[in-house]
Amino acid sequence: MDYNLLDESWIPVLWIDGSSTRVGIIEALTQAGRIRQIALASPLDLFAVHRFILTLLYWKAALAGGVEQVRKSLLKDGEVPSAVLEGITKEKHCFDLFDEKLPFLQDPSVNGAKDDERKSAGSLFAELATGTNIAHFHHGDDENTRLCLPCVALGMLRVVPWTQSGGAGLTPSIHNAPPIMAIATGDNLGITLGLNLVLLDVEAGEPKWSGHFKPTNPTKAIPYLEALTWNPRRIYLSSPRIGVCWYCGSSDAPTVGKIVYKKNEETIGNQQKKKRIPFTWRDPAAFYPENEFASANSTQEDQATENKDLARLIPVESGPLKSAVAVKNESHHGWRLVVPTTNPKNNKTFDHRQLELPNLSPETIGALIRANKRPPGRSEGLDGWNLPNPRHPLGIRLFVQAAIKLLTDADWAALSTAAYRDMHDSPAAFDVFAGLYWGLRDKKIGRLPSRNVAWLILKLMAAVPAQARVLHPGARFSPMEDPNALPKRQPKERGRTSLYPVSFPRGERLEAALRRALDSNVRKRKPEPVDWTGLCNGLDQLLD
Ligand SMILES: [Zn+2]
Repeated sequence: MDYNLLDESWIPVLWIDGSSTRVGIIEALTQAGRIRQIALASPLDLFAVHRFILTLLYWKAALAGGVEQVRKSLLKDGEVPSAVLEGITKEKHCFDLFDEKLPFLQDPSVNGAKDDERKSAGSLFAELATGTNIAHFHHGDDENTRLCLPCVALGMLRVVPWTQSGGAGLTPSIHNAPPIMAIATGDNLGITLGLNLVLLDVEAGEPKWSGHFKPTNPTKAIPYLEALTWNPRRIYLSSPRIGVCWYCGSSDAPTVGKIVYKKNEETIGNQQKKKRIPFTWRDPAAFYPENEFASANSTQEDQATENKDLARLIPVESGPLKSAVAVKNESHHGWRLVVPTTNPKNNKTFDHRQLELPNLSPETIGALIRANKRPPGRSEGLDGWNLPNPRHPLGIRLFVQAAIKLLTDADWAALSTAAYRDMHDSPAAFDVFAGLYWGLRDKKIGRLPSRNVAWLILKLMAAVPAQARVLHPGARFSPMEDPNALPKRQPKERGRTSLYPVSFPRGERLEAALRRALDSNVRKRKPEPVDWTGLCNGLDQLLD
């Protein structure tokens, strides 16, 4: 079996003419000006494939006069210089996933691993269930998870930029927790590659495409070709057999099952006085403070929900953090920001997202954060729903008044049988409702509550004893205001810094919550007078 990433068609692309196919690296490079973009759904895959192609260009750029020259050629007409293309093609033997001696990004010396030392092929993808990381949308087990060869290629390429921490000493990649990375995007793949190919202020060194990865000198500045092929694992793929891919769903395709996936002691990292310090390396796509090597990462999940993690890119005191790609393309229009979210406690990524932005200015990024920003000390807006405006329109007041004044005990009895029912399911109660509601509508007294709210409020009023069904001038009690009846936030859990908003319930869930709150009020030794008008008004604002 051989599977060479240069020749096989494994990268899904969208062509300028709107068609879509898969291509290999050579075709991607020769046709870069005709390919609109790489068409991968996962931002991690998308970044990893761009990064791999860029690494090849960095590697052979010298053959066409250097990185700046190749960048110019790509930006001009989306063309990869032929000398670069020839240089890459000559090294084709480095890119076969199943080469006996030099399998791509793998270490043949771990091939002898026993079966119980092998891990799920899903280890290559943070979002696939593996080992003890099982709380995922993808449910699978280590024995059965298989990946088709295009997906294996994606997974192998993720190893360099995106490897996170795992249990049992599995250390992350060169930048520790996966950083926020930027991709500048152009009108075609060639221009996109040109934009992201930026001259790096470090020695080039040599790429390490196969074997046990060992940094030349981890305490010194890391040469860029070494950093761009940094391999924190010792991996060996098993021979493929026909099966179903757990990542893309292809069936009847050659697939890889359990793989050797071991830690690489050589990439564990530098320590200074027992504290781990970052390698001397700045990824061109990641963001760093001036003269520092610790990249900006997203952290907690709840910050990610509101883009609050992006604030790390524009700290108040020191000015915005810089990425080499962003600096080089300062005036460029069209960016993607790949934001993996990592738990700071264990450097494990549990989520990632992609933001498409016109530019990376502090104003643009700030606007994303500000859009969700609240004035300090006020909780409105943070919750799933806001308390309604307390002003009661005349129609709503008159509706509640009329119900209390006009409906008889028999009417209330009919309404009380309609609990949890729709109008059309309870004819007797519907007659009561219609008589009251249509009668008021004819009088043109202003906006009445909506039909649904009027129906619901009558059912609720019918559920309490007659003495609670009055209009009390100082009535304060409303389930709307009672956080136990209708929560706005998820209950506080241990270790969670802020709470998740809860959406406003509907249908039977809402009716049940309101009934429960009214019932527990009635059961109090001194029940509080119910603010029926406020409840009707609030429901009217929140439901319709
Ligand atoms: Zn697949």
